[in-house]
Amino acid sequence: MKSHMHLRPRVLVTGGSGFLGSHLCERLLASGAEVLCVDNFFSSTRENVEHLLPNPRFELMRHDVTFPLFVEVDEIYHLACPASPIHYQRDPVQTTKTSVHGSINMLGLAKRTGARILLASTSEVYGDPEVHPQVEEYWGHVNPNGIRSCYDEGKRCAETLFFDYHRQNQVDIKVARIFNTYGPRMHPNDGRVVSNFIVQTLRGDSITLYGDGSQTRSFCYVDDQVDGLMKLMGSPDGVTGPINIGNPNEITVRQLAERVTALIGDAREIIFEPLPSDDPTRRCPDITKAREILGWEPKTDLDTGLAATIEYFKNHPDRVNW
Ligand code: NAD
Ligand code: UDP
Repeated sequence: MKSHMHLRPRVLVTGGSGFLGSHLCERLLASGAEVLCVDNFFSSTRENVEHLLPNPRFELMRHDVTFPLFVEVDEIYHLACPASPIHYQRDPVQTTKTSVHGSINMLGLAKRTGARILLASTSEVYGDPEVHPQVEEYWGHVNPNGIRSCYDEGKRCAETLFFDYHRQNQVDIKVARIFNTYGPRMHPNDGRVVSNFIVQTLRGDSITLYGDGSQTRSFCYVDDQVDGLMKLMGSPDGVTGPINIGNPNEITVRQLAERVTALIGDAREIIFEPLPSDDPTRRCPDITKAREILGWEPKTDLDTGLAATIEYFKNHPDRVNW
């Protein structure tokens, strides 16, 4: 803990009512922190954090990070940004603004308060990668003006801002490159593959496979992801990242569909739909740095994580029929 910190760290989580943010808020509260959750509910609802509201160490604030924020905090987890193509393509200009203006505002806050700040960057900075698995030194292969660019280039610029505030203003930064993460509280209608396949199967609908399903992803369970982010935040001064946080177990999207239907025990018809443009063909993190620098690696295997996610959706029929 930093010397200027209060007995209990005051932690700001932007995007705190989102999928990842809500799990992070829970874990931070469990660690004894005071948590200020800031969100404009662009791609989430209060429901994700409703159960935290009675906790006196938890505060929920509606705020758009593209506007300045004046609060006193010791640590900032900067997660605010729509993360799924359906959400970030709904208002692409706002998506870029959120990454760029939002990061400037949160970095300004970190500069004024001396808070340590962590950016939730993404594997999308690698684009459709030509290097496999992706190492942090790889600069990426990104379309600057396609339909994913508002997100990919927005996050790349956010990384630039983080490193420039660090070099120019000595802001204490940590940059995590998050790879596909799944688990309870994923938004049922945001089009992400794990929630899509689970919700489609539980609803009795056909499974939509984009392209021929041979594209790969590596899926990290949310508890492991939150662990990695907290370890990075707690890492020694001078460890800035970027550091890949993800699960290196790579599978094809078709194999994922088979796992989901096998676990639910109900085979569904597969419908093939066109592959969206700029959809990366392979993605898998090299997590050597996370292992060596943070002593972190994922612990949850895919079947265990999928079973927990399926259980969540079974227990929330309102979310299945959203
Ligand atoms: P999410 O959409 O569930 O959460 C994002 C949250 O940010 C939402 O609650 C949304 O309302 C909020 N938000 C959006 N714009 C905002 C703004 N201008 N001001 C305030 N709040 C705003 O997505 P998630 O999966 O929880 O992702 C969280 C972060 O992690 C994002 O920055 C995302 O880019 C990053 N990430 C996630 C994944 C993943 O697989 N889940 C992968 C890579 C990176
Ligand atoms: N995908 C699919 N069917 C779906 C949703 C997604 O085949 O119903 C594919 C998508 O084209 C991509 C992969 O699954 O190749 C992961 O998609 P997601 O949106 O979850 O993550 P991202 O593409 O951002 O990694």
